[in-house]
Amino acid sequence: MTTDTLVKDHSRSFHENKFVYPVLSRRSRGISIGVNLNPDKVCNFDCIYCQVDRVSESETRFVELERLTTELDAMFEFVGGGELYADEKFRDVPVPLRRLNDVAFSGDGEPTTFRNFDSLMSTVADLKRRHGLDDVKMVLITNASMFHRPVVQRGLEVLDRNNGEIWAKLDAGTEEYYDLVERTRIPFRQVLDNITAAARIRPIVIQSLFMRIENVAPSDDEIAAFCDRLNEFTTAGGRIKLVQIYTIARRPAESFVSPLNDIEIHKIAATVISKTGLPTEVFQ
Ligand code: SF4
Repeated sequence: MTTDTLVKDHSRSFHENKFVYPVLSRRSRGISIGVNLNPDKVCNFDCIYCQVDRVSESETRFVELERLTTELDAMFEFVGGGELYADEKFRDVPVPLRRLNDVAFSGDGEPTTFRNFDSLMSTVADLKRRHGLDDVKMVLITNASMFHRPVVQRGLEVLDRNNGEIWAKLDAGTEEYYDLVERTRIPFRQVLDNITAAARIRPIVIQSLFMRIENVAPSDDEIAAFCDRLNEFTTAGGRIKLVQIYTIARRPAESFVSPLNDIEIHKIAATVISKTGLPTEVFQ
């Protein structure tokens, strides 16, 4: 298996694990331990580009906390002790990438909808500390729809104290495009307000996926509106440490969705840089 195919192999199962899986992450340039808090594959968004495999049925419906903790404990040992690289899927990982970068909460839905989000963050932080992994980040990959909930705010505070990072998704500049892409009842305004409030407390990363819909790339006006939203965050005192622009890498939920090409994606990133001055990176 080449590094490239390894990077693209984001399978959520690792041997017998139900909740914890290792991934070679192109973004983190190292190993990321994924924690899936949505084994039921239910999400409060229904993004047209979602790359979660909802065709195959999930075996597990609920997060079993004890099992999740045991799997994570073992995975820290497995990666830290280098045993991971004896595994068929990881034996070709280049030596410079053989480092544990983060524990990422993502999975097959929105992680912040997990009922005991705050206590889970504390449990993972304690475990990470016990393994002496203070340098390893805790990355929350989120649609920012639930930040207004106290249980989520408490969880974010745990992240703040434990080398945490929030990667909040924002794929639109206008409500119309948001409705088209995210297909959710959660208002765009709620997401924007949540991102602003979170970014006023700590610097956050914005993750933005752009695509072709019915073979049409986002318009210049949509990208200009997207930049306006980013500028509104900073004007309101929010701190954005990075804007990540990317496109589809795997099979999307809808067949009318397809990836942008290199030129298109770099053009969007250049527009973001010129209109916002924010650090911006392209991931392909
Ligand atoms: S928020 Fe994420 S998991 Fe949920 S539908 Fe959108 S892309 Fe899929």
